[in-house]
Amino acid sequence: MQALIAGAGPAGCHLAIRLARSGWRVTLADPLPDPRRNAYSSGALPLRDVNRLCIPQACRSAHWWGWQLLNPAGVEHQWWSDDALGVVLDFAAFRSWLWGEAVQAGVELLPGRRVRLQRLDADSAVVRIQANGEASEERVCAHLVDATGARRVLLRQAGVEVDSPEDPLLSGEGSEWLLQGNDRTTARWRDRLSFMLGSQWIPHGYGWVFPMGDHQLKVGICRLAPPTGSRASINTALKRLLNRFGLDQLPVLDRHGGLVSSTVNRRETSGSGVLRAVGDSASTANLLGGEGIRHAMDSADVLAECLVSGATLQDYQLSLKRLFNWRWGVSNRLARRTWWGLNNNSADERIDRLISGLSEQASAEDLSELLFNYRFERYGWRLLPYLR
Ligand SMILES: Cc1cc2nc3c(=O)[nH]c(=O)nc-3n(C[C@H](O)[C@H](O)[C@H](O)COP(=O)(O)OP(=O)(O)OC[C@H]3O[C@@H](n4cnc5c(N)ncnc54)[C@H](O)[C@@H]3O)c2cc1C
Repeated sequence: MQALIAGAGPAGCHLAIRLARSGWRVTLADPLPDPRRNAYSSGALPLRDVNRLCIPQACRSAHWWGWQLLNPAGVEHQWWSDDALGVVLDFAAFRSWLWGEAVQAGVELLPGRRVRLQRLDADSAVVRIQANGEASEERVCAHLVDATGARRVLLRQAGVEVDSPEDPLLSGEGSEWLLQGNDRTTARWRDRLSFMLGSQWIPHGYGWVFPMGDHQLKVGICRLAPPTGSRASINTALKRLLNRFGLDQLPVLDRHGGLVSSTVNRRETSGSGVLRAVGDSASTANLLGGEGIRHAMDSADVLAECLVSGATLQDYQLSLKRLFNWRWGVSNRLARRTWWGLNNNSADERIDRLISGLSEQASAEDLSELLFNYRFERYGWRLLPYLR
């Protein structure tokens, strides 16, 4: 069997590797000429998932043992564990490793190539593969995969509705700088994930500082605003945050950014004809923490099994529904409620109360369970106001 995958991020690469190892002829194309370009993702993952997904040590830039939340007034709350809770990936190294694994598995990798859908039928698709500044090439494929991330390029070109008025797409935009610090300037941020929550930091979003190896820091801002919400510059908010923590004098090694988007209930269709969406294209990113690497790879596993077994689009969607179950929906509703509403004093007060409540009652492990495994039961009553 043969497949063409557009997009060599975590989802596209993982799928390509799985299919190639099952004996498929796989082509994987991405406009990035180099896997280290636009390493836009902060790459924070729970340790359990990094181990489960066999992500090698060389991609793990730093471990984290704790959580640090700064409330709207800037007061710090910390939670620590005796054991490492997670990893911050070097996303450039991670993507390089994925591209290398794909080539080793026998995938035809086409860097610097953009895929455009020409025709989509029930049993084949025709695409145009465009290299920068060069003539394009037309290919016919038996299976076509949209792994183009939040932009959902092929789904849109195929005219597939990526959302509906009842379940609209929520989009977040993120901007992140990679800074070179030293022993002294990184001390406040080492070994933990730090988040800044409240409209003073950024309306409709949050800021973060994540540790990396060699005294580097990832500092970013993400905003997930409602359609009519504030569109103030996220880079201005990022510079304000850097200034506030005295990080604005550190050398900037890289500036990058990207989109994260998902529907709340994932009711949209994940393909049409021989086209299937996977990863962020299939709304697998979780909006509460703006994280989606492990979900992109898990959805690729599901799609690989469906393609190999000849399952239908409906079977694929059912399998995704099982993976992204009711907890998923609750967490996305929480995300919409939290980020859309975070633009006034009363929302700040709610966030403040939530952080104080967690501070009194939750351990670092509880926070990880809440934010990564969506175990809300224990905090149900406190979260209710967010679900309205
Ligand atoms: C600022 C920011 C911070 C984040 N931090 C985290 C985090 O800490 N932890 C976490 O787990 N997740 C995080 N995420 C989300 C995470 O990065 C994504 O969920 C994940 O990368 C999705 O993988 P994907 O393969 O589906 O899509 P992507 O990684 O977006 O890959 C899509 C690929 O498709 C390519 N492409 C685009 N158009 C075409 C085309 N026409 N033809 C061919 N290829 C095309 C792109 O170049 C890209 O390489 C963050 C996202 C943002 C924006």
